Amino acid sequence: MTTRRMGAVAVSALLALGLAACGSDAGTTGTDGGSDGGSGLKIGIKFDQPGLGLKKGTEYSGFDVAVATYVAKELGTEAADITWVQAPSAQRETLIETGQVNLVFATYSITDKRKEKVSFGGPYFVAGQDLLVRSDDTSITGPDSLDGKKLCSVTGSTSAQNVKDDHPGVQLQELSGYSECLPALANGTLDALTTDDTILAGLAAQAEYAGKFKVVGQPFSQERYGVGLKKGDTALCEKVNAAIKKMIEDGSWQKAIDANLGPAKYKPGAGNPPTPDACS
Ligand code: GLU
Repeated sequence: MTTRRMGAVAVSALLALGLAACGSDAGTTGTDGGSDGGSGLKIGIKFDQPGLGLKKGTEYSGFDVAVATYVAKELGTEAADITWVQAPSAQRETLIETGQVNLVFATYSITDKRKEKVSFGGPYFVAGQDLLVRSDDTSITGPDSLDGKKLCSVTGSTSAQNVKDDHPGVQLQELSGYSECLPALANGTLDALTTDDTILAGLAAQAEYAGKFKVVGQPFSQERYGVGLKKGDTALCEKVNAAIKKMIEDGSWQKAIDANLGPAKYKPGAGNPPTPDACS
């Protein structure tokens, strides 16, 4: 822990005491056990999705990280007081339910099934499910041309679920992160990777795979990215939505898109920027 960070902890401990004494609102809802007075937030992101949520050494980057940082600031948490937690697709609900994270910004689609366990702020982005194939592959043109092909996706994602529901004839291999599919796609063990077009664009643009892959470009679902939070925390949801609206209105949302998805030449599709849903 750095001296600065220790100072921040000491200050927030004092603040917590002071605020508790006079019964003030600490600004954000506390975490389960060990609340630090609302100054720190634990935020779940992806660690292996370039352009969205990426951990490189001690640096975190991507559009999800940018939106999370903006929203946290509006909630009273400076970037230095965010603890980034890896949130693989299959673990997002559990991380929220158990209080291991306060918020999830992890290409996390809002669905009715997930709403049984968590609540969502947002959406703050709308993506679509697509396919990534080898550049020289002309046989896969959309989900209907996948019969007999070997497809890769991730456990606990809407991407895998949609394929199982709508294309049961496809051989689907589910791994724990999309980046894990790439070596097998490159060497021909697998034929395609399916998930959101945002994620595919970022993965394909990595220097180590330059020229190897292409996104098919026929999106076949709508993925509305929400901010996962504890079920029923409407107050937190309202604050998150106000922050998202502000980020869109003041131009920061577009800047974050350009900076993070621009390098992969990704252009947001219809429905962007979205208007957050009512909190419930
Ligand atoms: N947006 C989809 C989902 O929430 C796919 C991307 C992901 O797994 O993060 O499941």
